[in-house]
Amino acid sequence: MKIRDILKSSRKAFPSLEIVPPMKGITNTELIESVKPFMEFSPKYINVTCHRDEYEFREEANGTFSRHIVRNKVSEVAVCGALMSAYKIDVVPHMICGGSTADQIDDKLSDLKFMGIENIMALRGDCMAGEKRFVPTAGGYRYASELVGAIRAFERGGDIFSVGVGGYPEKHFEAPNMEADIENLKKKVDAGADYIITQMFFDNKVFYEYVDRCRAAGISVPVIPGLKPLTTARQVTLLPESFSIDIPVDLTSEIRAAGNDKDAVYRIGTDWCIAQCKDLLAHGVPVVHFYTMGKAENIVRILRSCF
Ligand code: FAD
Repeated sequence: MKIRDILKSSRKAFPSLEIVPPMKGITNTELIESVKPFMEFSPKYINVTCHRDEYEFREEANGTFSRHIVRNKVSEVAVCGALMSAYKIDVVPHMICGGSTADQIDDKLSDLKFMGIENIMALRGDCMAGEKRFVPTAGGYRYASELVGAIRAFERGGDIFSVGVGGYPEKHFEAPNMEADIENLKKKVDAGADYIITQMFFDNKVFYEYVDRCRAAGISVPVIPGLKPLTTARQVTLLPESFSIDIPVDLTSEIRAAGNDKDAVYRIGTDWCIAQCKDLLAHGVPVVHFYTMGKAENIVRILRSCF
């Protein structure tokens, strides 16, 4: 079923879950088992992230090194196929501009259509490890709005995919200001996106203000909040570095007070996420999206407390 239709027909707020494809070498059974704890909540669909290939340097017989492009993770499409077959569940593969030409994107869309996949999360993707800024692939797309346009062009007026895009309540780090970022978000919606999922945030106030700004800019599609429970003290510095987001003072103080007690930090992160989720539901959001990072324990506790 298309997410667009699920959103229209749902009477009650529900959780959505995002997983990251495992490293190559994992068996199909291991993957299916890792997702099993989430099945207790009968998720309506599962998002599967997509990742750029990476560079690897290999030593040649003559002692020099040559650069190779390698994929270390199982592909999102293979993971989607495994989930569909094991759980008869809808899936949302993420698709990124980076690393593919327009023709290769068209081939990927043909494969998804062939597999009966009706949903795509369309993103630009980040730069490759070792690069300072995103470099579009020659003959590929520069912005997610172009990818959304390409998906709609592929459909030739038909209705094959429901398309989601990313939004940034604390601004995408490359945008000069929030106004410009929201203008660019609107381009994705005008190109045919059905809904927006936000980057993680730890202060619900920024989400509510963001939704207000989107509405004021004429963006009327659903804006789904994305949450990630903090699990380690190190993430207090890592998450702002990686995602350009703020961690509220109250949360950092609690974590600092927990010192080296890893269990306490884990509990604080989980409880904070539960409080955020309950507040979002009280504000009437239709869906709460969870970045699970493939870890079920804290997410299961959050879902049991909130849904
Ligand atoms: P875009 O919407 O293209 O925006 C990128 C930047 O360009 C922004 O600063 C924007 O303001 C600006 N911009 C956009 N259009 C224009 C224009 N026409 N002119 C000038 N500037 C413009 N990454 C992955 O690699 N794999 C994933 O699976 C993945 N999943 C994600 C899921 C969610 C819910 C979110 C929020 C992000 C995800 N990301 C993923 C990260 C994402 O790829 C990065 O944040 C990336 O840097 C931006 O992607 P985007 O689709 O938002 O880009």
